[in-house]
Amino acid sequence: MMIKGVKTERQLDRKAIDELFREGYVYAPHGAYIRKTHGIDICKVPMNANFTCPNWDGRLSKEGCVYCPNFARQFTYESFRRVIGQGIKDQVKDQVEYYRNKGAGEKFLVYIAFGTNTYLPVPELKKIFDETLDHPDVIGLTIGTRPDCLPDEVMDLLGDYVKQGYEIWLEVGQQTMHYHTVESVLRHHGVAETIRVVQEAHRRGILVCMFLIMGLPYETRSEMIETARLISVIGVDAIKIYPCLVMKETRLLSEYRTGKYRPISMTEYAQLIADFIEHLTPYLLVQRISKDCGLDGKIVPEWDTHRFLVGPRVEKILAIRGTRQGSKYKLGLSADELEPLSKPDPPRKKAKKRTVQEMEEKLPI
Ligand code: SF4
Repeated sequence: MMIKGVKTERQLDRKAIDELFREGYVYAPHGAYIRKTHGIDICKVPMNANFTCPNWDGRLSKEGCVYCPNFARQFTYESFRRVIGQGIKDQVKDQVEYYRNKGAGEKFLVYIAFGTNTYLPVPELKKIFDETLDHPDVIGLTIGTRPDCLPDEVMDLLGDYVKQGYEIWLEVGQQTMHYHTVESVLRHHGVAETIRVVQEAHRRGILVCMFLIMGLPYETRSEMIETARLISVIGVDAIKIYPCLVMKETRLLSEYRTGKYRPISMTEYAQLIADFIEHLTPYLLVQRISKDCGLDGKIVPEWDTHRFLVGPRVEKILAIRGTRQGSKYKLGLSADELEPLSKPDPPRKKAKKRTVQEMEEKLPI
């Protein structure tokens, strides 16, 4: 589909991903994929529409997830400081000009970030999204939200934008596919919500990027890798992975201070991300594997989580191993493996029961 002169996406183009691997990528980077499929540079520009979150405002809880710092941190992001206080149209105009002047792209997807950006009644959401899309060079939206804030009415609203030709992405904060972790970090939703969101989004031509955190408390390494397999099976289109950070003013900080939580080391993280990527389906885009913004207030881990350090390290590990995204993606046995390695012994022939008369006949005379 075309909008404003540019092809827009409804589902991932597997041939384009195959080409990326043929070109030598060890995982399918979102940026390179977008350039290939759209034919021009598309830049994501962040925008803040001042949404709150039901896990902060008391609808679900007043405390937030254990790792979520004071909500005001949204204004510490460098990319937002210039546009604080501006209305939606002005923010979009300002951000588009800023990123275009930096040579970042010709057309733009507006990333509505911070908070739960579908947590408003549908008419108010429509007003915000309409204003955001009302720019000649904006080809779509990418909306950060929780999986439990996307009822059918919101999905229908987003589906209508798809019908008009816009490219719509949801960026869903799920963080892990293990219910016990979701519950322990006090997200106040489950895993079923995210499975539903992927199904409902795909029915409407909406793409889904999932946020994941590695190194969450209470979760094992093999569970984190199982998350890679689970999101592959349910058909997530892209991921953003971060290391778990302990920030100021969070409950995770108390757990760290009392020794209940140990942050992940850089070596552990890089190895884990390499393992994670190997266990993903090849047909899923990797948007991020590091955290390099919003770090004001980070206590630990002390290592630099910037993408320019983490990315090359992970790529080097994969190169040394000679593996890439999908190398270890395997769901059960293949048809060829349904051949038992050891066959059970053939049943012994049962000795025929002889009658007394037969036995007597066999006796020597
Ligand atoms: S869902 Fe996101 S914004 Fe809401 S409390 Fe959790 S981390 Fe914070």
